[in-house]
Amino acid sequence: MSQLTLALSKGRILEDSLPMLDRLGLAPAGDIDRLLRVPSRDPNLHFLIIRPSDVPTYVEHGAADLGIVGKDVLMEHGGEALYEPMDLDIAKCRLSIAAVKGSPFAVAGGAATIRRRVRVATKYPEITRRYFAARGEQVEIIKLYGSMELAPLVGLADLIVDLVATGNTLKANGLVETEVICQVSSRVVVNKASMKMKHAALRDLLGRLQTLDQAA
Ligand code: AMP
Repeated sequence: MSQLTLALSKGRILEDSLPMLDRLGLAPAGDIDRLLRVPSRDPNLHFLIIRPSDVPTYVEHGAADLGIVGKDVLMEHGGEALYEPMDLDIAKCRLSIAAVKGSPFAVAGGAATIRRRVRVATKYPEITRRYFAARGEQVEIIKLYGSMELAPLVGLADLIVDLVATGNTLKANGLVETEVICQVSSRVVVNKASMKMKHAALRDLLGRLQTLDQAA
């Protein structure tokens, strides 16, 4: 059987993937907090534990045969070079627009009523640009790498585009969700050449992941 390399997104996706991999007898057999390349309990599989936004790149270039990554990251990266055969239905959340409660931006489409260029802070500049452009609005995008919720509170931005799960973080910071851009869950992505060259091994692994999906 061919050896497979699976790129796992650090953080929430890794946490949610571990019980699933464990049930399949595929859990990492090493210190996932320190090691970047970890064997699995299955001798034919090992993991790369990497930043979510790097997963599509590793898989696209064949450094990993497959990966588990959020739909948000795939949409931002552009997933055309990858197969996306499966929605694992884990790490579920939504990508939303939010604004300071009570501000003119705190209603759906609020940005369109403002007579100056609206500033949107986000980790997702591509998705944000496309979303506003699709309804004819040009916004100034401020790229941030974390703590988006802070930007509107200190006047850095009028709106944010960020992941929302329970909504507690927004609420705690005095922000309200005004529009949902899309629902997000974790997807399996596969390198196109690996799908041909390692077809039997990948079919087996994807089949095992699928059984979990059906059991859920
Ligand atoms: P919550 O307070 O439950 O709405 O969670 C919001 C915070 O958690 C924000 O900082 C999000 O960026 C982050 N977050 C929520 N869901 C996810 C996810 N599936 N993956 C990564 N980060 C997430």
